[in-house]
Amino acid sequence: MGMAEKRISVVCPWCSVGCRFYIVNVNGYPKKIEFDYDHDIRNHGKLCPKGVAAFQHLRHPDRLKKPLKRVGERGEGKFKEISWEEAIKEIAQKLSEIKEKYGSEALAFLGSERCSIEENYVLQKLARALGTNNIEYVCRMCQSTAVAGKGMVLGHPGLTNPFEDILKAKVIVLWGYNPAATNPVFFGQYIEKAILDNNATLIVVDPRKTKTAKYADIHLQPYPGTDLAIALAMLNVIITEELYDKDFVAERAEGLEELAKTVEKYTPEWAEKVSGVPAELIRKAAITFATAGTAALLTNEGVNQHANGTRTVMAITEMMVLCGYFGKEGVMSGAIPGAHNGMGAGLMGIGPHELPGRFPLHAEEHKRRIEEAWGFKIPEKPGITYVEMIDAILEGKLKALYVMGTNPAKALPNLKKAEEAFKNIEFLVVQDIFLTETAKYADIVLPAAAWFEKDGTAISFERRVQRSFKAADAPGEAKPDWEILVMLAKELGFGEYFNYSDADDILREINRIIPPLAGATPERLKKNLKGCMIPCPDENTEVPRLFVQGFLTPNGKAQLIPVEYKEPGEVPDEEYPFWLTNYRFVGHFHTGTMSHRSKSLSKRWPEEYIEINENDAKRLGIKDGDLVRVETRRAALVLRAKVTPHIREGVVAAPWHWDFNYLTTDVLDEYAKMPELKTAACRISKVEG
Ligand code: SF4
Repeated sequence: MGMAEKRISVVCPWCSVGCRFYIVNVNGYPKKIEFDYDHDIRNHGKLCPKGVAAFQHLRHPDRLKKPLKRVGERGEGKFKEISWEEAIKEIAQKLSEIKEKYGSEALAFLGSERCSIEENYVLQKLARALGTNNIEYVCRMCQSTAVAGKGMVLGHPGLTNPFEDILKAKVIVLWGYNPAATNPVFFGQYIEKAILDNNATLIVVDPRKTKTAKYADIHLQPYPGTDLAIALAMLNVIITEELYDKDFVAERAEGLEELAKTVEKYTPEWAEKVSGVPAELIRKAAITFATAGTAALLTNEGVNQHANGTRTVMAITEMMVLCGYFGKEGVMSGAIPGAHNGMGAGLMGIGPHELPGRFPLHAEEHKRRIEEAWGFKIPEKPGITYVEMIDAILEGKLKALYVMGTNPAKALPNLKKAEEAFKNIEFLVVQDIFLTETAKYADIVLPAAAWFEKDGTAISFERRVQRSFKAADAPGEAKPDWEILVMLAKELGFGEYFNYSDADDILREINRIIPPLAGATPERLKKNLKGCMIPCPDENTEVPRLFVQGFLTPNGKAQLIPVEYKEPGEVPDEEYPFWLTNYRFVGHFHTGTMSHRSKSLSKRWPEEYIEINENDAKRLGIKDGDLVRVETRRAALVLRAKVTPHIREGVVAAPWHWDFNYLTTDVLDEYAKMPELKTAACRISKVEG
């Protein structure tokens, strides 16, 4: 038999930069990666270590190949293989029974930033067909504070400008964001280039001296979760020293007076006491930022994942507004989603308070329009958020959870509590590519096709919609997530609403339902691999720069809402004297479902460790490589110590891709319900012997 070799263009399945490359397959079996220099794509042929390793997990021996049914105790991981027919029948029957007995609110669904927009769209539609708005995804635990904070100030959370604009910025602020590790191709192609070619000044705010911070002209190293103090003090300097753009603020913002009154007390000297960052350095950062003329300010999990995250995002965004850094070339404001389709999944209505298009659930006009197109009613009552689902399970209110391509048993905060919930839930279904930590608790496990094994659309953090194409055959009986959902919808009696035969059918419905995506048609995305930047209201249009005319608030003006300081959810005390935080490795991704099963990545980054300042280590008798016990009020882990000058005294930090979340608290942000994942109080001691 002849060897049929094919070269297929794909979007990288890891981070949200949206790099493209080719997979070369032989008879459906992925053979190698080829760099794509041909198109006007964002990575210009470059890939990071994860990109180069992007298909290694596809043929891992642990891939799920048949539907499974639990035979042992929950969490034991004992299953027997069953047929698709049996699996789908059993799921439909159990969901219907639970709905009948306890009502639709006893059901909940989790979508995935690792799946396509088409698949997330179908999942939320299925949840609503079953009568519930209990539909969530992991954005709640990485981006929700940015969505809420930017939404309140600007009316839109997206990155404002195309990547190229950063090359013209005179100052770049990276706040709680380490792109040299998390978005390396973006860092090298745009940020490093802006520093080298345009002499841009780099300001970094991060408790660790990260790889990114090593490039910084000004590095502010706050205690974890005290970024809000620095942002308020920078606002104080910008306002009291009248460094703001008076014309811009007069014309395009409102609320300056109230904001000025509120931040009067938040001087750099006050912020020094709270954050540990010298007042003079805060003042210097504020003046450098405000007087640059053009600026890019990008934030990430270091800002977002806190119980005061929304307030911090608001204060930081207000700094951008005051300085008039919107609506022109050479500026950029944005919060960076972690995963390749983080932004896309959210736009599909995977949220308990949102309709497709991110319209609020109570936006009657859109609700009616969507109901008419779907042919059934959308439930009235808002659903519950991700972490609240755990409490609802433990309280006996939530009986069934359907999980698509995500791993809450490793991603949730305070994992012991989450595990208790998964042990006690009445019915759990997981569809994924591996038997994840969550799947081990499931009643039914469904084998899904991986990203490269199906056609699908993703939206990068640049707001760029791109198509990825099937480049390999799925193993065994694994199926694309959308296909599994359609099978289930039909079994539940919703066949008429889910009449799709491929991803194009679903995308065409999305084009009709979500106006900013009307022009991102299958035809356009197949013809133009660079894709288009949303909003793209028709096939010939895209919007490279947001807020050129006005903001997307009801009156078109940015809202300078007064923000008061609030401590992080947990701070050190006598019993737990250290600040504990976490970070991401360049070679791993989220809970490691894919990266821990990629040979080159797990070999180079095999285990977690804890960074500890050299003076703290000396005081506690800890040497580099010693085992230390890290203990919070919730759990303890034993990790190897990495003694370093690159973290400030009193703070310890570990990568989160392994068991970190056993340590974290589940205190929530009051606006976005984001858990306090980035800051906890801990004590550490050397493990003797
Ligand atoms: Fe993939 Fe992100 Fe690396 Fe690009 S930077 S190759 S999108 S992981």
